[in-house]
Amino acid sequence: MATIGFIGLGNMGGPMAANLVKAGHQVRVFDLVAEAVAGLVAQGAQAAASALEAAQDADFVVSMLPAGQHVEALYLGEQGLLAQLTPSTTLIDSSTISPESARKVGQAAAQAGIPFVDAPVSGGVGGAQAGTLSFIVGGEAKTFTQVKPILEAMGKNIFHAGDLGAGQVAKVCNNMLLSILMCGTAEALALGVKNGLDPAVLSEIMKQSSGGNWALNVYNPWPQVMENAPASKGYQGGFQVDLMAKDLGLATEVALASKSSTPMGSLARSLYSLHAQQGKGKLDFSSITQLFADVE
Ligand code: NAD
Repeated sequence: MATIGFIGLGNMGGPMAANLVKAGHQVRVFDLVAEAVAGLVAQGAQAAASALEAAQDADFVVSMLPAGQHVEALYLGEQGLLAQLTPSTTLIDSSTISPESARKVGQAAAQAGIPFVDAPVSGGVGGAQAGTLSFIVGGEAKTFTQVKPILEAMGKNIFHAGDLGAGQVAKVCNNMLLSILMCGTAEALALGVKNGLDPAVLSEIMKQSSGGNWALNVYNPWPQVMENAPASKGYQGGFQVDLMAKDLGLATEVALASKSSTPMGSLARSLYSLHAQQGKGKLDFSSITQLFADVE
Protein backbone atom coordinates (compact mmCIF):
# COMPACT_ATOMS: atom_id res chain seq x y z
CA MET A 1 0.00 0.00 0.00
CA ALA A 2 1.17 3.50 -0.81
CA THR A 3 1.39 6.80 1.01
CA ILE A 4 -0.59 9.34 -1.00
CA GLY A 5 -0.87 13.12 -0.58
CA PHE A 6 -4.26 14.31 -1.86
CA ILE A 7 -4.79 18.02 -2.55
CA GLY A 8 -8.24 19.45 -3.38
CA LEU A 9 -11.19 17.78 -1.65
CA GLY A 10 -14.16 19.30 -3.49
CA ASN A 11 -17.12 17.62 -5.17
CA MET A 12 -14.76 15.23 -6.99
CA GLY A 13 -11.59 15.14 -4.87
CA GLY A 14 -13.47 14.33 -1.64
CA PRO A 15 -14.98 11.02 -2.78
CA MET A 16 -11.85 10.13 -4.80
CA ALA A 17 -9.65 10.49 -1.70
CA ALA A 18 -12.19 8.46 0.30
CA ASN A 19 -11.85 5.60 -2.20
CA LEU A 20 -8.06 5.62 -1.81
CA VAL A 21 -8.56 5.28 1.96
CA LYS A 22 -11.03 2.41 1.41
CA ALA A 23 -8.45 0.65 -0.79
CA GLY A 24 -6.08 0.63 2.20
CA HIS A 25 -3.70 3.43 1.22
CA GLN A 26 -2.35 5.88 3.75
CA VAL A 27 -3.87 9.17 2.56
CA ARG A 28 -2.79 12.63 3.76
CA VAL A 29 -5.27 15.29 2.72
CA PHE A 30 -5.20 19.06 2.27
CA ASP A 31 -7.80 21.60 1.13
CA LEU A 32 -8.17 25.33 1.75
CA VAL A 33 -11.59 24.55 3.26
CA ALA A 34 -11.15 23.06 6.74
CA GLU A 35 -14.55 21.26 6.68
CA ALA A 36 -13.49 19.36 3.58
CA VAL A 37 -10.38 18.11 5.40
CA ALA A 38 -12.43 17.19 8.48
CA GLY A 39 -14.86 15.20 6.30
CA LEU A 40 -12.02 13.05 5.00
CA VAL A 41 -10.43 12.61 8.42
CA ALA A 42 -13.77 11.18 9.60
CA GLN A 43 -13.36 8.57 6.84
CA GLY A 44 -9.84 7.55 7.87
CA ALA A 45 -7.50 10.01 6.15
CA GLN A 46 -4.81 12.05 7.93
CA ALA A 47 -5.11 15.86 7.98
CA ALA A 48 -2.21 17.90 6.60
CA ALA A 49 -1.73 21.56 7.48
CA SER A 50 -0.45 22.46 3.99
CA ALA A 51 -0.08 21.00 0.52
CA LEU A 52 3.60 20.43 1.22
CA GLU A 53 2.87 18.53 4.43
CA ALA A 54 0.48 16.26 2.48
CA ALA A 55 2.98 15.72 -0.34
CA GLN A 56 6.37 15.46 1.38
CA ASP A 57 7.89 11.95 1.17
CA ALA A 58 4.65 10.55 -0.26
CA ASP A 59 4.86 7.84 -2.94
CA PHE A 60 2.21 9.67 -4.97
CA VAL A 61 0.51 13.07 -4.96
CA VAL A 62 -2.94 13.47 -6.49
CA SER A 63 -4.20 17.02 -7.14
CA MET A 64 -7.85 17.76 -7.95
CA LEU A 65 -8.12 21.54 -8.23
CA PRO A 66 -10.51 23.86 -10.09
CA ALA A 67 -8.32 25.27 -12.89
CA GLY A 68 -4.86 25.72 -14.43
CA GLN A 69 -3.86 28.69 -12.29
CA HIS A 70 -4.42 26.64 -9.11
CA VAL A 71 -2.39 23.72 -10.48
CA GLU A 72 0.49 25.95 -11.64
CA ALA A 73 0.51 27.74 -8.26
CA LEU A 74 0.64 24.39 -6.45
CA TYR A 75 3.57 22.91 -8.39
CA LEU A 76 5.61 25.79 -9.87
CA GLY A 77 7.65 28.66 -8.45
CA GLU A 78 9.95 28.91 -5.46
CA GLN A 79 7.20 27.88 -3.05
CA GLY A 80 5.78 25.23 -5.39
CA LEU A 81 5.89 21.51 -4.68
CA LEU A 82 8.41 20.78 -7.47
CA ALA A 83 11.00 22.84 -5.60
CA GLN A 84 10.44 20.81 -2.43
CA LEU A 85 9.86 17.20 -3.54
CA THR A 86 12.24 14.47 -4.72
CA PRO A 87 12.02 12.02 -7.66
CA SER A 88 10.67 9.32 -5.31
CA THR A 89 7.27 11.07 -5.37
CA THR A 90 5.15 10.60 -8.51
CA LEU A 91 2.66 13.36 -9.34
CA ILE A 92 -0.83 12.84 -10.75
CA ASP A 93 -2.84 15.93 -11.66
CA SER A 94 -6.49 15.00 -12.21
CA SER A 95 -7.82 18.56 -12.56
CA THR A 96 -9.19 19.60 -15.95
CA ILE A 97 -6.75 22.24 -17.22
CA SER A 98 -5.38 23.31 -20.60
CA PRO A 99 -3.01 20.89 -22.36
CA GLU A 100 -0.51 23.79 -22.44
CA SER A 101 -0.68 24.26 -18.69
CA ALA A 102 -0.30 20.49 -18.12
CA ARG A 103 2.77 20.42 -20.41
CA LYS A 104 4.28 23.42 -18.59
CA VAL A 105 3.98 21.68 -15.20
CA GLY A 106 5.01 18.30 -16.66
CA GLN A 107 8.12 19.73 -18.32
CA ALA A 108 9.14 21.51 -15.11
CA ALA A 109 8.65 18.21 -13.25
CA ALA A 110 10.80 16.39 -15.83
CA GLN A 111 13.57 18.97 -15.30
CA ALA A 112 13.45 18.17 -11.58
CA GLY A 113 13.46 14.44 -12.39
CA ILE A 114 10.01 14.02 -10.83
CA PRO A 115 7.52 11.76 -12.67
CA PHE A 116 4.28 13.57 -13.61
CA VAL A 117 1.12 12.67 -15.53
CA ASP A 118 -1.94 14.67 -16.47
CA ALA A 119 -4.88 12.41 -15.60
CA PRO A 120 -8.20 14.24 -15.94
CA VAL A 121 -11.34 12.26 -15.20
CA SER A 122 -14.78 11.68 -16.62
CA GLY A 123 -17.82 10.24 -14.86
CA GLY A 124 -19.05 13.03 -12.60
CA VAL A 125 -19.57 13.05 -8.86
CA GLY A 126 -21.53 9.77 -9.06
CA GLY A 127 -18.54 8.11 -10.72
CA ALA A 128 -16.17 9.60 -8.14
CA GLN A 129 -18.32 8.22 -5.29
CA ALA A 130 -18.74 4.79 -6.86
CA GLY A 131 -15.06 4.53 -7.84
CA THR A 132 -16.00 4.08 -11.50
CA LEU A 133 -14.35 7.16 -13.04
CA SER A 134 -12.57 7.07 -16.37
CA PHE A 135 -8.99 8.38 -16.11
CA ILE A 136 -7.51 9.82 -19.30
CA VAL A 137 -3.77 9.88 -18.83
CA GLY A 138 -1.05 11.79 -20.67
CA GLY A 139 2.62 11.08 -19.96
CA GLU A 140 5.40 8.53 -20.36
CA ALA A 141 4.39 4.86 -20.65
CA LYS A 142 6.65 4.02 -17.69
CA THR A 143 4.87 6.54 -15.45
CA PHE A 144 1.47 5.39 -16.71
CA THR A 145 2.29 1.82 -15.56
CA GLN A 146 3.35 3.19 -12.19
CA VAL A 147 0.18 5.24 -11.56
CA LYS A 148 -2.36 2.75 -12.99
CA PRO A 149 -2.83 0.68 -9.78
CA ILE A 150 -3.45 3.88 -7.79
CA LEU A 151 -5.99 5.15 -10.32
CA GLU A 152 -7.74 1.76 -10.30
CA ALA A 153 -8.76 2.39 -6.68
CA MET A 154 -10.78 5.41 -7.93
CA GLY A 155 -11.78 4.41 -11.44
CA LYS A 156 -12.88 1.64 -13.76
CA ASN A 157 -11.44 2.65 -17.14
CA ILE A 158 -7.84 3.85 -17.17
CA PHE A 159 -6.75 5.09 -20.61
CA HIS A 160 -3.29 6.08 -21.79
CA ALA A 161 -4.13 8.87 -24.29
CA GLY A 162 -0.52 9.63 -25.29
CA ASP A 163 2.29 11.96 -24.22
CA LEU A 164 2.16 14.77 -21.70
CA GLY A 165 -0.98 16.91 -22.26
CA ALA A 166 -2.76 14.23 -24.32
CA GLY A 167 -5.06 13.39 -21.41
CA GLN A 168 -6.22 17.01 -21.33
CA VAL A 169 -6.76 17.14 -25.11
CA ALA A 170 -8.96 14.02 -24.94
CA LYS A 171 -10.81 15.41 -21.91
CA VAL A 172 -11.51 18.73 -23.67
CA CYS A 173 -12.92 16.86 -26.70
CA ASN A 174 -15.13 14.75 -24.41
CA ASN A 175 -16.47 17.69 -22.41
CA MET A 176 -17.17 19.72 -25.52
CA LEU A 177 -19.29 16.82 -26.77
CA LEU A 178 -20.94 16.41 -23.36
CA SER A 179 -21.95 20.09 -23.26
CA ILE A 180 -23.45 19.85 -26.76
CA LEU A 181 -25.41 16.72 -25.75
CA MET A 182 -26.64 18.36 -22.54
CA CYS A 183 -27.82 21.54 -24.36
CA GLY A 184 -29.54 19.44 -27.01
CA THR A 185 -31.20 17.16 -24.46
CA ALA A 186 -32.51 20.13 -22.45
CA GLU A 187 -33.76 21.83 -25.61
CA ALA A 188 -35.60 18.68 -26.81
CA LEU A 189 -37.19 18.05 -23.39
CA ALA A 190 -38.37 21.68 -23.18
CA LEU A 191 -39.89 21.41 -26.66
CA GLY A 192 -41.72 18.19 -25.77
CA VAL A 193 -43.04 19.48 -22.44
CA LYS A 194 -44.25 22.73 -24.04
CA ASN A 195 -46.19 20.55 -26.46
CA GLY A 196 -47.92 18.57 -23.74
CA LEU A 197 -45.57 15.62 -23.14
CA ASP A 198 -44.62 14.21 -19.74
CA PRO A 199 -40.82 14.73 -19.40
CA ALA A 200 -40.34 11.24 -17.94
CA VAL A 201 -42.24 9.57 -20.78
CA LEU A 202 -40.42 11.61 -23.42
CA SER A 203 -37.08 10.84 -21.75
CA GLU A 204 -37.79 7.10 -21.84
CA ILE A 205 -38.80 7.28 -25.52
CA MET A 206 -35.65 9.19 -26.53
CA LYS A 207 -33.45 6.97 -24.35
CA GLN A 208 -34.61 3.92 -26.31
CA SER A 209 -34.49 5.75 -29.64
CA SER A 210 -31.82 7.32 -31.79
CA GLY A 211 -31.59 10.42 -29.56
CA GLY A 212 -30.36 8.31 -26.61
CA ASN A 213 -27.27 9.72 -24.87
CA TRP A 214 -25.43 9.90 -21.52
CA ALA A 215 -27.53 12.84 -20.22
CA LEU A 216 -30.74 10.85 -20.72
CA ASN A 217 -29.23 7.64 -19.34
CA VAL A 218 -27.71 8.88 -16.10
CA TYR A 219 -28.07 12.66 -15.71
CA ASN A 220 -31.52 13.73 -16.85
CA PRO A 221 -31.64 17.58 -16.84
CA TRP A 222 -35.40 17.84 -16.16
CA PRO A 223 -36.43 18.02 -12.46
CA GLN A 224 -37.92 14.86 -10.88
CA VAL A 225 -37.35 12.58 -13.87
CA MET A 226 -34.32 10.92 -12.27
CA GLU A 227 -34.28 10.78 -8.48
CA ASN A 228 -30.53 11.15 -7.89
CA ALA A 229 -29.70 13.58 -10.68
CA PRO A 230 -28.78 17.18 -9.69
CA ALA A 231 -31.91 18.35 -11.59
CA SER A 232 -34.03 16.72 -8.86
CA LYS A 233 -32.04 18.49 -6.11
CA GLY A 234 -32.47 22.09 -7.28
CA TYR A 235 -29.43 21.66 -9.57
CA GLN A 236 -27.14 21.51 -6.50
CA GLY A 237 -23.92 19.45 -6.37
CA GLY A 238 -22.62 17.76 -9.51
CA PHE A 239 -20.54 19.67 -12.08
CA GLN A 240 -20.75 23.45 -11.88
CA VAL A 241 -21.74 25.66 -14.81
CA ASP A 242 -18.59 27.72 -14.13
CA LEU A 243 -16.43 24.61 -14.55
CA MET A 244 -18.18 23.61 -17.79
CA ALA A 245 -17.75 27.18 -19.08
CA LYS A 246 -14.06 26.88 -18.18
CA ASP A 247 -13.74 23.58 -20.07
CA LEU A 248 -15.43 25.08 -23.13
CA GLY A 249 -12.97 27.97 -22.96
CA LEU A 250 -10.18 25.36 -23.01
CA ALA A 251 -11.79 23.71 -26.04
CA THR A 252 -11.81 27.10 -27.78
CA GLU A 253 -8.11 27.62 -26.98
CA VAL A 254 -7.23 24.18 -28.35
CA ALA A 255 -9.36 24.81 -31.46
CA LEU A 256 -7.74 28.21 -32.10
CA ALA A 257 -4.22 26.86 -31.62
CA SER A 258 -4.85 24.00 -34.06
CA LYS A 259 -6.98 26.08 -36.49
CA SER A 260 -9.91 23.67 -35.98
CA SER A 261 -13.54 24.50 -36.63
CA THR A 262 -15.84 23.76 -33.67
CA PRO A 263 -19.16 25.50 -34.39
CA MET A 264 -21.27 23.37 -32.04
CA GLY A 265 -18.71 23.72 -29.25
CA SER A 266 -18.61 27.49 -29.78
CA LEU A 267 -22.41 27.71 -29.47
CA ALA A 268 -22.39 25.57 -26.32
CA ARG A 269 -19.64 27.82 -24.89
CA SER A 270 -21.80 30.91 -25.54
CA LEU A 271 -24.86 29.30 -23.94
CA TYR A 272 -22.93 28.25 -20.81
CA SER A 273 -21.28 31.65 -20.58
CA LEU A 274 -24.69 33.39 -20.85
CA HIS A 275 -26.13 31.07 -18.18
CA ALA A 276 -23.18 31.83 -15.87
CA GLN A 277 -23.62 35.58 -16.43
CA GLN A 278 -27.23 35.20 -15.31
CA GLY A 279 -25.94 34.16 -11.89
CA LYS A 280 -26.17 30.39 -12.40
CA GLY A 281 -22.43 29.64 -12.27
CA LYS A 282 -22.56 27.55 -9.10
CA LEU A 283 -25.47 25.36 -10.24
CA ASP A 284 -24.94 21.98 -11.86
CA PHE A 285 -24.37 22.15 -15.63
CA SER A 286 -27.70 20.37 -16.37
CA SER A 287 -29.36 23.63 -15.18
CA ILE A 288 -28.79 24.88 -18.75
CA THR A 289 -32.43 23.66 -19.03
CA GLN A 290 -33.39 26.97 -17.39
CA LEU A 291 -32.48 28.76 -20.64
CA PHE A 292 -35.23 26.79 -22.38
CA ALA A 293 -37.91 26.33 -19.72
CA ASP A 294 -39.13 27.71 -16.41
CA VAL A 295 -37.69 24.99 -14.13
CA GLU A 296 -36.07 25.32 -10.69
P1 NAD B 1 -14.70 21.92 -6.56
O1 NAD B 1 -14.70 23.40 -6.74
O2 NAD B 1 -15.85 21.23 -5.92
O3 NAD B 1 -13.39 21.49 -5.70
C1 NAD B 1 -12.13 22.09 -5.81
C2 NAD B 1 -11.49 22.05 -4.42
O4 NAD B 1 -10.16 22.53 -4.51
C3 NAD B 1 -12.22 22.93 -3.40
O5 NAD B 1 -12.53 22.16 -2.24
C4 NAD B 1 -11.20 24.03 -3.09
O6 NAD B 1 -11.27 24.49 -1.74
C5 NAD B 1 -9.90 23.30 -3.35
N1 NAD B 1 -8.76 24.17 -3.60
C6 NAD B 1 -8.67 25.22 -4.44
N2 NAD B 1 -7.42 25.73 -4.42
C7 NAD B 1 -6.72 24.96 -3.55
C8 NAD B 1 -5.36 24.99 -3.10
N3 NAD B 1 -4.48 25.89 -3.53
N4 NAD B 1 -4.98 24.05 -2.20
C9 NAD B 1 -5.86 23.13 -1.73
N5 NAD B 1 -7.15 23.06 -2.12
C10 NAD B 1 -7.56 23.98 -3.02
O7 NAD B 1 -14.41 21.30 -8.01
P2 NAD B 1 -14.69 19.79 -8.50
O8 NAD B 1 -16.06 19.71 -9.03
O9 NAD B 1 -14.21 18.84 -7.44
O10 NAD B 1 -13.69 19.75 -9.76
C11 NAD B 1 -12.28 19.65 -9.63
C12 NAD B 1 -11.69 19.49 -11.01
O11 NAD B 1 -12.24 18.32 -11.64
C13 NAD B 1 -11.99 20.65 -11.97
O12 NAD B 1 -10.86 20.89 -12.76
C14 NAD B 1 -13.16 20.14 -12.79
O13 NAD B 1 -13.21 20.76 -14.06
C15 NAD B 1 -12.85 18.66 -12.86
N6 NAD B 1 -14.01 17.77 -13.05
C16 NAD B 1 -15.16 17.93 -12.33
C17 NAD B 1 -16.23 17.05 -12.53
C18 NAD B 1 -17.53 17.19 -11.77
O14 NAD B 1 -18.52 16.50 -12.15
N7 NAD B 1 -17.60 18.00 -10.72
C19 NAD B 1 -16.10 15.99 -13.45
C20 NAD B 1 -14.90 15.82 -14.11
C21 NAD B 1 -13.86 16.71 -13.91
